[in-house]
Amino acid sequence: MTNLQNIQVQRLSHFSNVDVEVDVLRLDLLHPIVSGNKWFKLQYYLTEAKELGADTITSFGGAYSNHIVATAFAAREAGFKSMGLIRGDQLPTLSPTLSAAVSYGMQLVFISREAYQNKVILKQTHHRQGMYWIEEGGYGALGAKGASEILKVIDTTGYTDILCATGTGTMLSGLISAALPQQRLNGISVLKNHLQMEKEVRALLNSTDAAKPFTILHPYHFGGYAKHPPELISFMKKIWDTEKVPTDIVYTSKLLFAAADLLQTGYFPEKSKVLLIHSGGLQGNASLPPNTLPF
Ligand SMILES: *Cc1c(COP(=O)(O)O)cnc(C)c1O
Repeated sequence: MTNLQNIQVQRLSHFSNVDVEVDVLRLDLLHPIVSGNKWFKLQYYLTEAKELGADTITSFGGAYSNHIVATAFAAREAGFKSMGLIRGDQLPTLSPTLSAAVSYGMQLVFISREAYQNKVILKQTHHRQGMYWIEEGGYGALGAKGASEILKVIDTTGYTDILCATGTGTMLSGLISAALPQQRLNGISVLKNHLQMEKEVRALLNSTDAAKPFTILHPYHFGGYAKHPPELISFMKKIWDTEKVPTDIVYTSKLLFAAADLLQTGYFPEKSKVLLIHSGGLQGNASLPPNTLPF
């Protein structure tokens, strides 16, 4: 079960200094496996699926996709069946992510990497009556609407800056629409040189929200999506030792690294109060060799 009351705000004492305070919103505490932001992003899709009378939720993802496992879980919680079209051939053993998805009742269908490229054809081939489709990663305006509720979990009025990791940009779109006029929004891109991300974020917003300023920072991908060189792993260990915050190799480690770097280079003006969104996703670390991380 998920319980919004488990979510907490935590001061990052080693990030904060006399000029700037830094807090982290621990969405990871929502559930140990279901990635915090994915659960938020899914809620309005599920509402629409109910309204349409669907009985099965279907989506796409890789073997370590936070979105797939969250879809399996949230679909079951809302009384749906679920199906996941999984990129790549089936391996002899399921990844921990896919095992969890199966344990939540998801039916998996493995799709060759080539066929996976064409989502339009995939939807046509696998569609049947009663099926409701969600885009890869939960990208879409309803996903952004769900993510906008992240800022309702706590009182965010005192924060001047809000930072999150961005993949599809859906969560950032939601945060932009929910932010107060004086709040600066920064997305830390986990993709390498994905410069159209800004456009993809704006595409999910109405014209008023699309006019709001926000910044996507591109230098913190560490080599690209899910790449985790040794310096990132040692940073994750340091954050665990100093702040007791667990991070994942794909998203939140890169967010916290970016925040530390931006603080050091004076990116935030004096008296800033910074809120980092810890979006969950910790089960992604299961792709690492055992004992790589202390948490
Ligand atoms: C998916 C995910 C993100 C990125 O969210 P988008 O809405 O795709 O930008 C960030 N953090 C975690 C932990 C995620 O699982």
